[in-house]
Amino acid sequence: MDNFEVQKLKKKIPEIGTEMHDTMVKLYPICRSITGNGVRKTLDIISEQIPLEKHEIPTGTEAFDWTVPKEWNIKDAYVKKSNGEKIINFKKSNLHVLNYSVPVHKTVSLSELKDHLFTLPDQPALIPYRTSYYYENWGFCITHKQFLQLEEDEYEVVIDSTLEDGSLSYGEYFIKGKSEDEVLLSCYICHPSMCNDNLSGVVLLTFLAKHLKNLSLQYSYRFLFIPETIGAIVWLSRNEQNVTKIKHGLVATCVGDSGISTYKKSRQGNAEIDQTVIDVLKNSGDDYKIMDYEPIGSDERQFCSPGFNLPVGLLLRTHPYYFTEYHTSADNTEFVKAKYLADSFSKYFKVIFKLEENFGKFYSKNNEEELLEIDSKNDQVFLNLKPKCEPKLDKTGMYRKIGGKNNNDALTILWVLNYSDGKHSLRDITLRSGIDFKQIKQTAELLHEKKLLKRIL
Ligand SMILES: [Zn+2]
Repeated sequence: MDNFEVQKLKKKIPEIGTEMHDTMVKLYPICRSITGNGVRKTLDIISEQIPLEKHEIPTGTEAFDWTVPKEWNIKDAYVKKSNGEKIINFKKSNLHVLNYSVPVHKTVSLSELKDHLFTLPDQPALIPYRTSYYYENWGFCITHKQFLQLEEDEYEVVIDSTLEDGSLSYGEYFIKGKSEDEVLLSCYICHPSMCNDNLSGVVLLTFLAKHLKNLSLQYSYRFLFIPETIGAIVWLSRNEQNVTKIKHGLVATCVGDSGISTYKKSRQGNAEIDQTVIDVLKNSGDDYKIMDYEPIGSDERQFCSPGFNLPVGLLLRTHPYYFTEYHTSADNTEFVKAKYLADSFSKYFKVIFKLEENFGKFYSKNNEEELLEIDSKNDQVFLNLKPKCEPKLDKTGMYRKIGGKNNNDALTILWVLNYSDGKHSLRDITLRSGIDFKQIKQTAELLHEKKLLKRIL
């Protein structure tokens, strides 16, 4: 990267922000999911900007503890009153359908319909985003306001979807630098019509790749456009031999809202990527926020699972915990603005510029975590027996059936699994997570019973 190239690109950043927003608007109406034609259409639109390599992984392919599911596609869905009036219509918002709903066509009473409706009582004007990938179900998501107005009637429900053997699609783009050492930049492409989470990340990485490919680079750069969780797990299982080349990484999501920049550190906590991002944010002159790693979030959960422990952080603006539009119909093309996309682009670019500048100067500090002293008789140390990615918890009856919303039990399970690396005791996990010790211990015992953990101390 020479200075002239960098200065030229810096001048273009506001314009790039507008282009990113335009591409986001184009991607917005597509009904995406973890598989299916919505993902393929998305990859096609990204391919108009960068020459993506597209992969199709067949249904049934094993990836660590997971299996590529059946492919889901949808043409239409609605609910009609007995007088013929369509009161819920997929064509008006694809969030109206519980993502991965199995096909259905029948007449139901109000009470049966209500068993399949999802709403947000605290945000009565918004449609929630809900999924049911691994538990066959059908359902509709509507505003709570509409829910309260529903009357006794015979309702015709139609979901014209298919759930069949097919494949999981993802895209990859590789820019060869002078070195074999890689920087991994990953985003997910499985959310339907929502912008900050996560089309903002998709367009940011698309345009970053488009502009980086013209520069002379030390590192090689690998861009992933994958469905969240299952895509990261599939990618890691297919590329296990090469992950040692990854020296730094970032997951891009929630980069287009008006909030300040937030950095969630990698699990290593003091990796070069952590120091670099923190430096860039410190020197930006803007407010920012730093968060420690926690095993809840996006694909960093897989990249930072103890069997990989890659130096991958999450650079975003407002964390999903703190914006109320998260996973609702309010996360739309107005909520994300070109100027915030441009600002995030500039911060990502500065991180890359700094990594390039420091190439060869830093040395990896992998696995420096010290054994923490265990001072309580009650304390125990466990080892995660499936440390590569997350185990498929619903197989053991231990995980949420409806995705899109976290619950406390699920969060405790993720904490205990991620930190049961033989080095962190239950007390350490309690301190890091802020979850009650009793709950941590009970969860560890349950995971032990399900043969996901082995007690070592
Ligand atoms: Zn999400």
